[in-house]
Amino acid sequence: MNSKRAAIVFLTCLAGTAPQAQDSEPLSAGTLQAAYFIADAQATTVSAYLYLPYGEIDNPYAEGLAHYSEHLGWLNGFGLAKADFDRETNASTTLFRIEYHFNAPPEDLEHSLQVLAKTLTPIRLDPQFMEQERGIIAREYDLGVRESIWADFNQSLDRATYGDHPITRSVIGTPDNIINFSLTDARAFHKMTHTVDQAVLLVYGNTDLARVQSAVTSVFGGENATPRLPPRDFDFAPMEEDIQSVTVPKSDRQLVLIRKRIHLPQTQSYQRRVLIATLLQKALLSPYDGSLAKPLRFDDFIAQRIRVDIDYLDQNDLLLTIESEPDLDITLPRLQQALLQTLSTIAAQGIPAETLQRVRQQYLTRLQELETPAAQVFADARADIAARQIPIGFETARALVQDIRPAEINALLTRISGEGHLVVRLVNTPTGDKN
Ligand SMILES: [Zn+2]
Repeated sequence: MNSKRAAIVFLTCLAGTAPQAQDSEPLSAGTLQAAYFIADAQATTVSAYLYLPYGEIDNPYAEGLAHYSEHLGWLNGFGLAKADFDRETNASTTLFRIEYHFNAPPEDLEHSLQVLAKTLTPIRLDPQFMEQERGIIAREYDLGVRESIWADFNQSLDRATYGDHPITRSVIGTPDNIINFSLTDARAFHKMTHTVDQAVLLVYGNTDLARVQSAVTSVFGGENATPRLPPRDFDFAPMEEDIQSVTVPKSDRQLVLIRKRIHLPQTQSYQRRVLIATLLQKALLSPYDGSLAKPLRFDDFIAQRIRVDIDYLDQNDLLLTIESEPDLDITLPRLQQALLQTLSTIAAQGIPAETLQRVRQQYLTRLQELETPAAQVFADARADIAARQIPIGFETARALVQDIRPAEINALLTRISGEGHLVVRLVNTPTGDKN
């Protein structure tokens, strides 16, 4: 899923900062699947990120075990270096990837890579130690899930959107699962996913290409002939439209949440598709003709706030999300109807070329004005790697945005307003009696 590019416009920028060309440089990856470097002269350290393109969605064992295997991988690699306070390390797991991160001064890069490589070696930890680690995860669960009033809502929304597809799996698991994680299963999952030929390395920070290449070659060898993993391609079962009014305990927000899952066999490159979706999302939220926001927020006071996301789930499926809060005296069913009706009206007419041109120009201007383009290239590269795609640089992305035609954006709009699996939740507050 890649909606990270959409975040670009919200970054602040300093006027007068000279724009820098920023690219992710491919490296000779040796035994790794792939390796990239993004230079950032403003950073004070060098961060090395090691990605395994597997996550909870690939886990055939108890829910949450992918995250447990990440903890064990981390102990494998970093366990003995824990007392070293000069260095920052971290690790995380999502549905789609496991990431290990080591942040250190530039001269320590080779050491960072050696430690990261150790996360990929077979787990040979004391079983008692492994059992204790389940308690650490149980505490993470307490801090994260228990406190979220939206956890149950989100889970049932995912079920309604995807059925019992593994994409609905919980990354953290349940307290019962966590405390009973099987050490054998965790070792097996780690062995299946943590291999050097599947791992992708991303080095980011203040150093130079030659130095990074030399460290990578020293730890992982030279050249590279590892075949790339194909991007994901899910099979979702057909499902019935699902529209419901619900109440979220303790919530004080009334809102309409629309999700539509659309099967859209790809005809363009991944990067182009993502950028087309980004431009469409911005056009829909713009105050110009052909947007959702203009009639509903600015002309008539129907919606107070509208959020739109268009995310690719895999090669051939995308998810449209529209979230909106009603303006005063507007009921939730009225807002739902207005959102869907406006979307199909815009799609039938097409967004005017002038609107798309303005949105594109604003997007390019903001890219240009970013204070640290390297940080954005890095954020995009992380998302690309998690989607099992090759990251592209700043200049390539900019050239692609310039090349996208209005007809391509309107073609996507037609698709997202057309056939798909529709899920709608009219979310009431416990005290709300309006609807
Ligand atoms: Zn954790």
